[in-house]
Order: sequence, then C-alpha cells, then structure tokens
Amino acid sequence: MQSIFDRVQEMGHEQVVFCHDPNSGLNAIIAIHNTTLGPALGGTRVWNYGSHEDALIDALRLSRGMTYKNAISGLNIGGGKAVIIADPSMKSEALWRRYGRFVNSLNGKYITAEDVNTNTSDMEFVSLETKFVTGVPEYAGGSGDPSPFTARGVYMGMKASAKKAYGNDSLAGKKVLVQGAGHVGQYLIGHLVEEGAKVMVSDIDQAKLKSASEKYRSIEVVDNATIFDLDMDIYAPCALGATVNDETISKLKCSIIAGAANNQLADENIHGPQLVKKGILYGPDFLINAGGVINVSAELDGYNIGKVNSAVERIYQRTLDIYELAEKENTHPQAAAMIMAQKRIDDIAKMKSRM
Ligand code: NAD
Repeated sequence: MQSIFDRVQEMGHEQVVFCHDPNSGLNAIIAIHNTTLGPALGGTRVWNYGSHEDALIDALRLSRGMTYKNAISGLNIGGGKAVIIADPSMKSEALWRRYGRFVNSLNGKYITAEDVNTNTSDMEFVSLETKFVTGVPEYAGGSGDPSPFTARGVYMGMKASAKKAYGNDSLAGKKVLVQGAGHVGQYLIGHLVEEGAKVMVSDIDQAKLKSASEKYRSIEVVDNATIFDLDMDIYAPCALGATVNDETISKLKCSIIAGAANNQLADENIHGPQLVKKGILYGPDFLINAGGVINVSAELDGYNIGKVNSAVERIYQRTLDIYELAEKENTHPQAAAMIMAQKRIDDIAKMKSRM
C-alpha cells in the first residue's frame, strides 16, 4: 500500500483525522482537503467498506471533490468529507453523538452534513454535541434534506448538456437512465417525468424501485446488471462513484452523462479524455451535483431560500461555460471544471496573502 503521507501529499490534503470509539463502535475518517476559502464542509458517508484502505481512499477522493465543488459554486467554504466504516444498520444515537464530539474537537475547521446512508435525524444527534453541523431538520433550525436541491442542480446541468449536445435544452422524449433511485434519484426522476423524458430506472434495492414506480407510473424499471447494454440518450449515475470506467465506456451508447454521484470517472485523467474521443458529453459531477452543499452551507449564513434557489439555477449557465472553456483549453469538461475551481482558490489565496 502507498504510504498514507505519500497519498495525502499527492492529493494535497491538509489534515486527515482517524476517530475511534470502542463503546459506540465508531470508526471514522475525517479528511480535510483545503481550507483556503473557509472551513471545510462536506457530508459524512456511512458505508461497510471492504477494507480500511478503501475507506481512506474514498474519504480522500470525496474531500478533494468537495474542495472543487465548493470553489466552483462560488461558496466561501473549503473541502472536506468524512466516512464512517460501518453497516448502516449499526447507526445509533451514541455513535452519532460520539462522532459529533470528534467533529467538535476540530473547532470548526470541518463542518459536517449528510451523505450516502445518513439523514437529517442523524445530523440532529450530531448537533447535540457540536454546532459544526448542517443539514439538520427544519424543526431543529436547519435547512432539512439537501437532496431536492442536488436533484434540481443535476437537472439544470443535464438540460445545459442537452443544449450543448442537441442545440436545444428540452429533455422531452429523451431516453434517460437514472441509476440509483435513492434520495437524489427520486427527485431527479420527478423533474424528468414532468418534462416528458422517457425515464428508465435501476437500483440494487427493490424497495426503492417499488416506491419510485408507484410514485411515477410512466417510468420503466430496468435490470441493474445490464444497464450499460441499453440504448439511451442520457446516463444519470445517482448511486456510487467510478461507474464510468474502461468497461462501461466501451459499452455506453449515450450522448450525455449527467448525474449526482460523486467521482463518477474511475480515473479522470483516463476516462475524461476517453469520453471526449467517444463523443459523449460529460457534465462534471462536482459542478452539477452542488445543489445540496449550496443549500446546507446557506445555514451558516442566515438561510435564505430565494438565494439558494437562484444559486442552484446558475448551475445551468456554469455548465455551458465549462463546456466552452474545455473547448478553448482543448481538454475534457472535468479538467476544465478543475481549472476553473483551482483558479478561484489560487486567486483568493493570493488576495489573502496581500492583506
Ligand atoms: P442514497 O443512498 O439515498 O441513494 C443511492 C441509491 O443508489 C440507493 O437507492 C442504493 O440502493 C442505490 N445503489 C447503491 N449501489 C448501487 C449500484 N451498484 N447500482 C444501482 N444502484 C445502487 O444516496 P443519495 O443521497 O441519493 O446520493 C446519491 C449519490 O449522489 C451519491 O453518490 C452521493 O454521494 C451523491 N450526492 C448526493 C447528494 C445529496 O444531496 N444527497 C449531494 C451530492 C452528491
């Protein structure tokens, strides 16, 4: 295994914290990638990782993605993320409160929120131990579930991608595959159905598929094992990362990839250019899935729903700007988005160093 410090140096992290509590069974990693723009904000994922190394790599990749996401979205916050290594059924009040104390011990350098397998009630437990938490329920003074905002931003990014690919941003009649009918996927399906897209949905959880097809009668449930053989216009990954890889790119027959999952490209340096070569337009994940963090971060600033909604709608224009920049720089959209995000971080760092 590559040494932890080599990996951290290569990816540019500031701090990585390992948290262990035998009483509650908590094993967590908090990764703080960059705090140039402000305290690091990013959700906490609960996942039954195959190894501790897998968990570390996930925390490092996700936190770096948050740095770019927060920067490109114009937020005055840095990038961080945490993972808790556990079966989601092991979640308990004690685990969340112990975790909240670890977050609190960082004195605001890291602010948490929800992610995969976590919800507003979990964040409410965290909030009993620290004020450095967002995404708490509305009745507890927070902004609630960020997923509808994430889904709206993905929808904006998808429409902008359609404008670029087809010359028209209408999704009516387009065949869209939504992989993952979870929190974000369900809301995204709602937008797509409303616009008249032909929506196909896959998930590994039959209950999620049942609930989606009961709510949206027109959707078609498809077998998750064979989705990459299907004919589709748009692939929307809304489950986990790295689904865009050597194997799937060779099969994919879509013209656009635009979804909510973080780190969709297994390796951005390989798969970003491969998609360009294949003529598939890729809506950069950290750009178009920023609606949730735009919403939760507004809790830090005196929550204003009007401001949040207009920031989420701006994802449409920003996606078009990135496609233009990618052409100008002769690169792929993910790299162009990273250039734009890094430029903002560098400019602000320079500005602060002169103060
Ligand atoms: P979720 O856990 O509610 O939903 C994920 C869904 O994907 C679940 O229904 C799960 O059964 C399904 N799934 C898991 N593995 C799968 C597989 N191999 N194939 C098909 N389906 C699979 O999570 P969510 O909050 O909807 O988030 C979805 C993705 O979007 C995650 O990658 C998350 O990091 C990212 N994201 C979420 C938000 C947010 O606001 N919730 C914000 C930004 C990014």
